[in-house]
Parts: sequence; C-alpha cells; structure tokens
Amino acid sequence: MARIGFIGVGNMGGPMARNLLKAGHSVKVFDLSEKAVADCVSEGASAAPSAAEAASNVGVVVTMLPKGDHVRAVYLGDQGILSAADQGTLFIDCSTIDVSTSREVEKAAAAAGMSMVDAPVSGGVGGAAAGTLTFMVGGNSGAFEAAKPILEAMGKNIVHTGGPGNGQAAKICNNMILGISMIGVCEAFVLAEKLGLEHQTMFDIVSTASGQCWSLTSYCPVPGPVPTSPANNGYKPGFSAENMLKDLHLSQDAAGDFGASTKLGRAAMDLYEAYVGGEGQAADFSGIVNMIRKS
Ligand code: NAD
Repeated sequence: MARIGFIGVGNMGGPMARNLLKAGHSVKVFDLSEKAVADCVSEGASAAPSAAEAASNVGVVVTMLPKGDHVRAVYLGDQGILSAADQGTLFIDCSTIDVSTSREVEKAAAAAGMSMVDAPVSGGVGGAAAGTLTFMVGGNSGAFEAAKPILEAMGKNIVHTGGPGNGQAAKICNNMILGISMIGVCEAFVLAEKLGLEHQTMFDIVSTASGQCWSLTSYCPVPGPVPTSPANNGYKPGFSAENMLKDLHLSQDAAGDFGASTKLGRAAMDLYEAYVGGEGQAADFSGIVNMIRKS
C-alpha cells in the first residue's frame, strides 16, 4: 500500500481521497478549506499543515485543484511541492487545466527527477464517490504504469491518452461535447414543454432514440426522470456552471492556439458566460435550462 499526499480535497478530491483510504492506502491531506480537511480526517486521513508537508515523505502526490494557476502555484511556487518532495515521487494531477501549464509542470517535475502524469477525470461527484471515474492520463509509459494502480482505487476506466498534457487534451474535447450536448438537451426540453410533451414522455422516447446522450440519461436537466441529477436538488452542483465555463474557455483557447474551427463550442461558451454572469453563478451546469426557458 502506498503513502499518498492529497492536495485539494473539495467536491471531487474529497471522495477520491476517501476511496484511496478505503483501498488501504495511507493518505495525508492538505486543502485551504479546514472543513474539507476535517471531513477527510474523520474518515481516516491525516492532516498536513501545508502543501509542502503533504508532499514530503510520501511516494505519490495527487492534486485536485480548480485551475491552472492553482496547479502552477502549488507545484512551482514558493514552497512548491516539487522542491518539497522526495526524489522519485510520482505526481498525479487530476485537475482540469490548460494543456500548456500541464506540460510545463511535467517538464519541471522531470527536470527535478520526479515523474508526473496529468489525469483529469470524467464522471462527476457521483463517479468520484462511487469510485467509477474515467481517468484520461497523459505521460510517459513508465509514469502511466506507476499511476495506474493508484488510479484504479478511484476509477473504473484508466485510459493512456499519450504523452504529457494529452490527458488534458482529451478532457477539454470531452467537455466541449458535454457543454454543447447539455445545451442541446435543455433546448429540446424547453421546446417539448411548449409543445405540450411531459418531461417523462420526452425522456422515455429520447433515451432510447437517436438523441440519447449522457446529458440526458445520466444528468437530465429537468426534475423527475433521473432521480440523482442535480435538477432534483435545486441545481446544487454537482459540476458547477462555473467549472463548465472554465472548461469551455480551455477548449476555445486551445482551438485558437491550434487552429481548429469550433463554432458550437464558442456558442456554448457564450451561453455559459451569460448564465454564470447571472442566475447560474453558484448553480450546477444543468441549471442553464432555467435561463434557456426564460430567454
Ligand atoms: P472544488 O472547488 O470543490 O475543490 C477544489 C479544492 O481545492 C477546494 O477545496 C479548494 O479549497 C482547494 N484549493 C484551492 N487552492 C488550493 C491550494 N493552493 N492549496 C490547497 N488546496 C487548494 O472543485 P472540484 O469540483 O473538486 O473540482 C476540482 C477540479 O476537478 C477542477 O479542475 C474541475 O474542473 C475538475 N472536475 C470537476 C468535476 C465536478 O463534477 N465537480 C468533474 C470533473 C472534473
């Protein structure tokens, strides 16, 4: 069993750290939120007083942070974890961040004698709690093989997507589809309402027809058909609209940098910009149905 430092135990990192504990690993956690740390400690983790302390005297460090700036600061900043960790430590960054930052941090890790993979996830808070996440893993083969048994305690599908940063590339492409498909499902439900179709009837048809997709079948944006979806819980995240907007910005930035035409991705980003700037500031991303209904 491994000694693991876990930095960033929020909505996703918290349940992921708990699954590492359940698998028998010893886990030392650090987060800026005392409550997030206390929740993990109550399940058997130990608390570290800083990120650097969480990363020292362990074989593996997992990070699950909001954005590229946080990852850069935690890894490369003053008292960054790359300088605090023991030689040979394996770093697994599960945050969703931009490809360039991911590649830059991996390069710094390699230069410091450490190995690193980027391993962003799909599956949401439910998948994190159930240990059924999909991990999209970028990094060299040795680092991937070393990370795999750790990731298996937190997920079901562990996919090697290529070299450093390629996990992030897969993730932002996936989430561009997710943002677009969620808006498509929301628009279809709003149209169905106006045409007099019941939500459940619409769901029963589309979930077995060619419009079927994850945004409908696992995360239905209207209350009723999928009891676990945030629509049944006042659109409390879940996966926040703010994080969706962040990911759509990442794919638009990458599309600009690498010359891809992603017009629907841009339209989705614009709609989430409007939602997050208004009623959706603290809501789940599926709550955009409420904005669409009013527009
Ligand atoms: P979150 O805000 O709940 O958790 C992030 C945690 O990082 C917070 O507890 C915060 O206090 C902590 N943190 C921030 N800066 C820190 C620092 N310098 N040192 C230590 N801790 C720090 O966010 P989340 O929903 O858990 O998302 C984390 C990442 O996972 C994001 O990149 C997000 O895009 C991605 N993601 C989220 C979901 C989802 O459904 N929530 C799904 C897939 C991927």
